[in-house]
Amino acid sequence: MKNFTGYKCSLCGTEYLPGQATYTCPKDGGNLDIILDYASIRKKFQPEDITSRTESSLWRYLPLLPVSEPAGNSTPLHASGWTPVFALPRLAEKLHLKHLWLKDESRNPTASFKDRASAVVVTRAQELKSEVVVTASTGNAGAALAGMSAAVGQKAVIFAPKSAPQAKVAQLLVFGAKVILVDGTYDDAFDLTIKAAQEFGWYCRNTGYNPFTAEGKKTAAFEIWEWWIEAHREWHKKNGILDDHSPLTIFVSVGDGNIISGIHKGFKDLMALGWIPNMPRIIGVQAVGSAAIANAFHANTEVITPVSAATIADSISVDLPRDGIRAVRAAKETNGTYITVTDDEIIQSIAELGKMGVFAEPAGATAYAGLVKATGLGAVGSDDPILVLNTGSGLKDVRAAMQAVQSAPIIEPNLDAVKKLL
Ligand SMILES: *Cc1c(COP(=O)(O)O)cnc(C)c1O
Ligand SMILES: [Zn+2]
Repeated sequence: MKNFTGYKCSLCGTEYLPGQATYTCPKDGGNLDIILDYASIRKKFQPEDITSRTESSLWRYLPLLPVSEPAGNSTPLHASGWTPVFALPRLAEKLHLKHLWLKDESRNPTASFKDRASAVVVTRAQELKSEVVVTASTGNAGAALAGMSAAVGQKAVIFAPKSAPQAKVAQLLVFGAKVILVDGTYDDAFDLTIKAAQEFGWYCRNTGYNPFTAEGKKTAAFEIWEWWIEAHREWHKKNGILDDHSPLTIFVSVGDGNIISGIHKGFKDLMALGWIPNMPRIIGVQAVGSAAIANAFHANTEVITPVSAATIADSISVDLPRDGIRAVRAAKETNGTYITVTDDEIIQSIAELGKMGVFAEPAGATAYAGLVKATGLGAVGSDDPILVLNTGSGLKDVRAAMQAVQSAPIIEPNLDAVKKLL
């Protein structure tokens, strides 16, 4: 909390003290970046002070977060983040890549990347002594908010489109949130949530609206930083290259654009602290049917034109992305790009990742689908070290998973039937 000195609008650059803004810029509605006191952090901490911390959760980065330590301990809120990175040598070979890894965000407490944001927002809500937190969600943000809230006894209200996958709705209900299904799109739920929050004085977590979500999401960048120090060391040893600076390339699936913006913010924090020499490349991946940010990126504009979103990847199905401008910049300022993939390519990627032991929901597999596309387009080189994120678990959307595979045969319970089948 002491390192949190205010907000800066990503559109007009106006700065606000912590008490002068809550959500977006009062002047123009731009997304607010949280300002940290880098000088004071740098004075107090060396990178080793962070990397030697023992917490195996995102709270190991507390000195770089704008909230104080959450109350209590050993709850799911305290266990968010610190997800594993897996090497994928067989897929690397298939794609003619030398180095490929996957960071598996489905290992978070409610099985998606969104736990990072919700852990930090719920902690902020408790600091503000908000009675109720609310969010609009296609499912995962809500499940994360409901789960993190349940963990610390915070009341939560979730607005989701009635089309949200069953498993996600089940999660919301089981976590004990007040669940309200909206007969409309995610965008309808989003606008309604802001109105309800204003009307009833609730604290609103909406993605691309509440500035603290990106602060939670940036912790993935810190984990990638720590992992890369180790992986890079190993890699150098193996390749006998001592002065190689090939930057890591990170593939992220993009809906509202808040994950990619958060990851970008994390690396910007590390740059500002002087803890990394250069930025990794960040490549955003959108579904062809929900590509408002990719469209803007390729038109070389920061004007985000809404689309009428339609994709099997419900978690990234967004008409008007709420964090589009910062999401465009995340790719542009890191020499990255945007890739779009079809639903068929997404479904195919669920199957490919599955054969590596990773179960991804459609939006989770989208980043890998983008990598496949990018190798075909020559957007990445075969020597580039690459990290793809799986942002959500396949258990979240079993119906989509079943489209990625052939159904299992049903047989009579005898050996003859087995022989006939084989
Ligand atoms: C929310 C979500 C995304 C996209 O994040 P944005 O911040 O909306 O771009 C990607 N994958 C999964 C599984 C998600 O839940
Ligand atoms: Zn502004």
